[in-house]
Amino acid sequence: MRNESLTPEVVPDSRIGFTPPTSPATSRHADRTLVDKYGRHVTYLRLSITDRCDFRCSYCMAEEMTFLPRAQVLTLEECLRIASAFVDLGVTKVRVTGGEPLVRHNAIWLLEQIARLPGLQELVITTNGSQLDRFAPALRAAGVKRINISLDTLRADRFREITRVGDLAKVLRGLDAAQAAGFQRLKINTVMMRGSNDDELIDLVEFVVGRGIDIAFIEEMPLGDIGHARQTFGSEEALARLRTRFVLLPSTETTGGPARYWRIPGTSTRVGFISPHSHNFCASCNRVRVTARGELYPCLGNNDALALLPLLRSHPTDDSPLRATIVGSMGIKAKGHDFGSQMDAPQVLRFMSMTGG
Ligand code: SAM
Ligand code: SF4
Repeated sequence: MRNESLTPEVVPDSRIGFTPPTSPATSRHADRTLVDKYGRHVTYLRLSITDRCDFRCSYCMAEEMTFLPRAQVLTLEECLRIASAFVDLGVTKVRVTGGEPLVRHNAIWLLEQIARLPGLQELVITTNGSQLDRFAPALRAAGVKRINISLDTLRADRFREITRVGDLAKVLRGLDAAQAAGFQRLKINTVMMRGSNDDELIDLVEFVVGRGIDIAFIEEMPLGDIGHARQTFGSEEALARLRTRFVLLPSTETTGGPARYWRIPGTSTRVGFISPHSHNFCASCNRVRVTARGELYPCLGNNDALALLPLLRSHPTDDSPLRATIVGSMGIKAKGHDFGSQMDAPQVLRFMSMTGG
């Protein structure tokens, strides 16, 4: 049985950059593995393909947002070059995110191309669901394996309040469309906010159980100045509240991310918690992020980044500088984040929509 206050172990390996193969089955390029200076293997890229969004969630964005000029945003071809370089270096999972990835024109083309990269095992996306009623079948045909859909409330008026502009009915139609298209393990992502949606945690779990899908509750992170104080709600309190209604059994399952999962006996639903405050998961971190303007952030909770866009544009036909920079980024991946002391005065000034959640 899993320890409920799990602290992941540090991998005792201090090699940086390329390493020899440990298992020939890891990828087609098993001789090229990204390892940081704390011995963590990076196998997962989160790629933001736009900073734009059709919602303005109050925990993610300021009410008045200025989006990037087009010339400063990666083209879809540049997104593909970056994904391709990472996969060539041993990354096996790519998540396309944003902003809202499905508002990017021709996003499906990009997904089709990424899905075909030799060595990639899993292409997944995170979306607010607003465009899923249109795109769900195309996503499935493109080779997307799993979809995470953000949904913080089941009440239309509250949904409008949190997203500032969103239409709950449209997102629910999108969820229907994704299930009808045959996506099996859909997951709802819910950011927990005290005094806003913490009274709906049980309803949300009942909702996902009814649909046979999963849910992950996320502790809000202090990313960007959103113009108001954040009222966080912790995983332990959420778990205790859910246990007043459900039997929750700790599970050793993982989807390759920081979520810790619980099962509800008699259902297929997994209930996850992503707890950057109460359970620091940095020691097992396997991911890096690339923003819509091509900045490579080895750590979500840290400001160190490397600019890929100038490299791509000054070497339009040669990916070796790009690959060398990606390998070099392993040397600046921070050991971990500390969000605890930053809730009121965030030190990471980028919005989540910039970095790609
Ligand atoms: N627009 C898409 C969506 O909402 O799913 C993808 C991008 S969004 C930035 C990715 C995820 O980050 C969403 O699940 C969202 O709820 C989460 N998120 C945004 N700001 C956050 C914050 N400050 N703390 C924790 N999660 C956040
Ligand atoms: Fe848009 Fe997603 Fe941020 Fe909400 S969480 S504003 S949907 S990018």
